[in-house]
Amino acid sequence: PELLAEAYAELSRLAIRRLSGRFHERYVALVAHDGRKHELIKFIAAHRAYFAARSLIATENTGKLIEQEVGLTVARRVLSGPVGGDQEIGALVSRGFVEAVFFYRDPLWAQPHQADVSALIRICEVANVPLATNNATADLVVRSLT
Ligand code: PGA
Repeated sequence: PELLAEAYAELSRLAIRRLSGRFHERYVALVAHDGRKHELIKFIAAHRAYFAARSLIATENTGKLIEQEVGLTVARRVLSGPVGGDQEIGALVSRGFVEAVFFYRDPLWAQPHQADVSALIRICEVANVPLATNNATADLVVRSLT
Protein backbone atom coordinates (compact mmCIF):
# COMPACT_ATOMS: atom_id res chain seq x y z
CA PRO A 1 0.00 0.00 0.00
CA GLU A 2 2.86 2.39 0.77
CA LEU A 3 4.37 1.81 -2.65
CA LEU A 4 0.99 2.34 -4.25
CA ALA A 5 0.56 5.64 -2.41
CA GLU A 6 4.02 6.73 -3.57
CA ALA A 7 3.26 5.77 -7.17
CA TYR A 8 -0.03 7.64 -6.98
CA ALA A 9 1.65 10.75 -5.59
CA GLU A 10 4.30 10.66 -8.34
CA LEU A 11 1.65 10.26 -11.05
CA SER A 12 -0.27 13.21 -9.62
CA ARG A 13 2.89 15.33 -9.65
CA LEU A 14 3.49 14.39 -13.31
CA ALA A 15 -0.11 15.22 -14.21
CA ILE A 16 0.17 18.63 -12.54
CA ARG A 17 3.43 19.40 -14.35
CA ARG A 18 1.87 18.35 -17.65
CA LEU A 19 -1.20 20.50 -17.10
CA SER A 20 0.82 23.50 -16.07
CA GLY A 21 2.90 23.20 -19.24
CA ARG A 22 6.21 22.64 -17.50
CA PHE A 23 6.43 19.09 -18.80
CA HIS A 24 6.67 20.32 -22.34
CA GLU A 25 9.60 21.83 -24.13
CA ARG A 26 8.27 24.85 -25.92
CA TYR A 27 8.01 24.37 -29.65
CA VAL A 28 9.41 26.43 -32.48
CA ALA A 29 6.65 26.60 -35.10
CA LEU A 30 7.32 26.59 -38.84
CA VAL A 31 4.76 27.33 -41.53
CA ALA A 32 5.28 28.41 -45.15
CA HIS A 33 2.86 28.91 -47.98
CA ASP A 34 3.76 27.18 -51.23
CA GLY A 35 5.26 30.29 -52.86
CA ARG A 36 7.68 30.72 -49.95
CA LYS A 37 8.48 27.17 -48.86
CA HIS A 38 11.80 27.26 -50.70
CA GLU A 39 12.77 30.46 -48.86
CA LEU A 40 11.99 29.01 -45.43
CA ILE A 41 13.78 25.73 -46.19
CA LYS A 42 16.87 27.68 -47.26
CA PHE A 43 16.72 29.70 -44.05
CA ILE A 44 16.41 26.61 -41.87
CA ALA A 45 19.30 24.91 -43.67
CA ALA A 46 21.44 28.01 -43.14
CA HIS A 47 20.63 28.01 -39.39
CA ARG A 48 20.61 24.26 -38.90
CA ALA A 49 22.22 24.30 -35.45
CA TYR A 50 19.52 26.55 -34.00
CA PHE A 51 16.65 24.45 -35.37
CA ALA A 52 18.30 21.10 -34.63
CA ALA A 53 18.49 22.02 -30.94
CA ARG A 54 14.76 22.71 -30.71
CA SER A 55 11.50 20.89 -30.67
CA LEU A 56 9.90 21.68 -34.02
CA ILE A 57 6.24 21.84 -34.91
CA ALA A 58 5.12 22.44 -38.49
CA THR A 59 2.14 22.23 -40.78
CA GLU A 60 1.91 19.05 -42.86
CA ASN A 61 3.69 19.95 -46.10
CA THR A 62 6.14 22.39 -44.57
CA GLY A 63 7.12 19.70 -42.06
CA LYS A 64 7.53 17.08 -44.76
CA LEU A 65 9.87 19.34 -46.71
CA ILE A 66 11.94 20.18 -43.63
CA GLU A 67 12.51 16.48 -43.01
CA GLN A 68 13.24 15.66 -46.65
CA GLU A 69 15.34 18.67 -47.62
CA VAL A 70 17.10 19.60 -44.39
CA GLY A 71 17.03 16.22 -42.67
CA LEU A 72 15.72 17.57 -39.36
CA THR A 73 13.10 15.75 -37.33
CA VAL A 74 9.83 17.57 -36.85
CA ALA A 75 8.53 16.56 -33.42
CA ARG A 76 4.94 17.31 -34.23
CA ARG A 77 3.25 17.70 -37.60
CA VAL A 78 -0.19 19.29 -37.55
CA LEU A 79 -2.67 19.42 -40.41
CA SER A 80 -1.96 21.39 -43.54
CA GLY A 81 -2.70 25.13 -43.15
CA PRO A 82 -5.83 25.27 -45.34
CA VAL A 83 -7.51 22.45 -43.40
CA GLY A 84 -6.83 23.68 -39.87
CA GLY A 85 -3.09 23.47 -39.20
CA ASP A 86 -2.69 27.20 -38.58
CA GLN A 87 -5.45 26.97 -36.00
CA GLU A 88 -3.78 24.02 -34.28
CA ILE A 89 -0.57 26.02 -33.96
CA GLY A 90 -2.53 29.09 -32.83
CA ALA A 91 -4.12 27.06 -30.03
CA LEU A 92 -0.66 26.03 -28.77
CA VAL A 93 0.57 29.63 -29.00
CA SER A 94 -2.32 30.80 -26.86
CA ARG A 95 -1.52 28.12 -24.27
CA GLY A 96 2.12 29.20 -24.02
CA PHE A 97 3.61 26.11 -25.69
CA VAL A 98 5.39 27.96 -28.51
CA GLU A 99 8.66 29.88 -28.19
CA ALA A 100 8.62 31.48 -31.64
CA VAL A 101 6.71 31.27 -34.91
CA PHE A 102 8.33 31.43 -38.34
CA PHE A 103 5.41 32.09 -40.63
CA TYR A 104 6.41 32.65 -44.26
CA ARG A 105 3.02 33.58 -45.63
CA ASP A 106 2.63 34.58 -49.26
CA PRO A 107 1.80 38.29 -49.47
CA LEU A 108 1.36 38.15 -53.25
CA TRP A 109 -1.24 35.43 -53.52
CA ALA A 110 -4.75 35.13 -52.05
CA GLN A 111 -5.17 32.23 -49.62
CA PRO A 112 -8.40 30.25 -49.20
CA HIS A 113 -7.69 30.19 -45.46
CA GLN A 114 -6.94 33.90 -45.06
CA ALA A 115 -9.06 33.98 -41.88
CA ASP A 116 -6.77 31.36 -40.30
CA VAL A 117 -3.64 33.22 -41.46
CA SER A 118 -4.88 36.41 -39.77
CA ALA A 119 -5.86 34.47 -36.65
CA LEU A 120 -2.37 32.99 -36.26
CA ILE A 121 -0.76 36.42 -36.61
CA ARG A 122 -3.25 37.90 -34.18
CA ILE A 123 -2.76 35.28 -31.49
CA CYS A 124 1.04 35.78 -31.68
CA GLU A 125 0.44 39.48 -31.07
CA VAL A 126 -1.92 38.75 -28.16
CA ALA A 127 0.40 36.17 -26.58
CA ASN A 128 3.53 38.26 -27.21
CA VAL A 129 5.24 35.42 -29.08
CA PRO A 130 8.01 36.35 -31.57
CA LEU A 131 6.65 36.07 -35.11
CA ALA A 132 8.98 36.12 -38.11
CA THR A 133 7.45 36.52 -41.54
CA ASN A 134 10.61 37.19 -43.54
CA ASN A 135 14.33 36.38 -43.50
CA ALA A 136 15.32 39.69 -41.93
CA THR A 137 13.11 39.13 -38.87
CA ALA A 138 13.79 35.40 -38.75
CA ASP A 139 17.50 36.22 -38.56
CA LEU A 140 16.91 38.52 -35.59
CA VAL A 141 14.76 35.93 -33.80
CA VAL A 142 17.35 33.19 -34.28
CA ARG A 143 20.14 35.43 -33.06
CA SER A 144 18.29 36.63 -29.98
CA LEU A 145 17.15 33.13 -28.96
CA THR A 146 20.49 31.40 -29.54
P1 PGA B 1 1.37 23.30 -45.48
O1 PGA B 1 0.42 24.43 -44.87
O2 PGA B 1 2.68 23.39 -44.78
O3 PGA B 1 0.68 21.98 -45.24
O4 PGA B 1 1.50 23.59 -46.95
C1 PGA B 1 0.88 25.74 -44.82
C2 PGA B 1 -0.21 26.73 -45.08
O5 PGA B 1 -0.65 26.82 -46.23
O6 PGA B 1 -0.63 27.47 -44.16
